Amino acid sequence: MKASNADIELTPRQIFLRSLKREDVPRPATGSATSVVTLDLMEKAGVYFPEAHLDPVKMANLAAAGHTLIGFDNVMPLFSVWHESAALGCPVDWGQRNRMPDCRGGIYGIEEPISIPRNFLQRQECQVPLKAIQRLKREFGNHVAVVGKVFGPWTLGYHLFGVEEFLINTLLKPAAVKRALDILKIVTVLFAQAQIDAGADALCLADHATRDLCSPDAYREFLLEIHTELNARIPCPLILHICGDTSDRICFIKKTGIDCFHFDSKVPVISARQLAGPSLSLMGGTSNIQVIRNGTDRDIRDDVREKISANIQVLGPECAVPLDAPYRNMQVLVQEAHNLTGAI
Ligand SMILES: [Zn+2]
Repeated sequence: MKASNADIELTPRQIFLRSLKREDVPRPATGSATSVVTLDLMEKAGVYFPEAHLDPVKMANLAAAGHTLIGFDNVMPLFSVWHESAALGCPVDWGQRNRMPDCRGGIYGIEEPISIPRNFLQRQECQVPLKAIQRLKREFGNHVAVVGKVFGPWTLGYHLFGVEEFLINTLLKPAAVKRALDILKIVTVLFAQAQIDAGADALCLADHATRDLCSPDAYREFLLEIHTELNARIPCPLILHICGDTSDRICFIKKTGIDCFHFDSKVPVISARQLAGPSLSLMGGTSNIQVIRNGTDRDIRDDVREKISANIQVLGPECAVPLDAPYRNMQVLVQEAHNLTGAI
């Protein structure tokens, strides 16, 4: 991380986007590819779940708080994991103020053909985040990075088939799973392109191929090629998000050509950096429980210091922030990151 006079004038948006590409920046970026909404952030912004999932103006206003109240360099309005799956027919319960949306069970058997509705992108569940992204782009112009979010075919497989049906068939009927992934990746590309057209500067590609649910062999067999293809077909920087311990697959992820990996604190930060090598940018890695929810100011400062020393490009929470965390802790993280710049 090298500062020059020219860099000092960079906007938060430029700092965030340059960090995804591992270009020189005057300070580390701060932000997140997943939800940063907490109950007290909703109170402060005057916008609440579940309306913020279902109304584009409310969604944009709550996402904006990620920059205006917390100070992050990006905003990201898709707070849940369900928009495109709901548009594909999953009967989503949009939750409550203190509960994230959810949906139980699948809607297809693994051998059944998946149909992507012709009006998929026009459906309300897609239109709400698309309009929110347009609004955020208008509101923040070029000052803050607007990040969208799409799900990869592995997560969409969980949603459409149900986790058990999907996972058991990676062993019993791998050809059927591959056929399903090939269809579902079309959904990822369609929604990604629509979000880019709406103004997204970069996208979170979340695909929950976590170690408990997807072995490293399964990642290589089912997803390495697809993630590589998605990166080639989606024309903006991608931030791959996979929760849990991903130590055994970061070596594959760096081969996909994806710009940035948003990683979980279950991966020790030093090994994350070593495994990612010189080209893959890293985001997150800060524990939601120990630091973002329960950390003291001192814990937060130590964590920021550790991430800067380990050469993490975008500092922030590891995954969607627990709703009962205090948003002030993320403000402290941002302030520490700005204060410590140049001190390490
Ligand atoms: Zn996650």
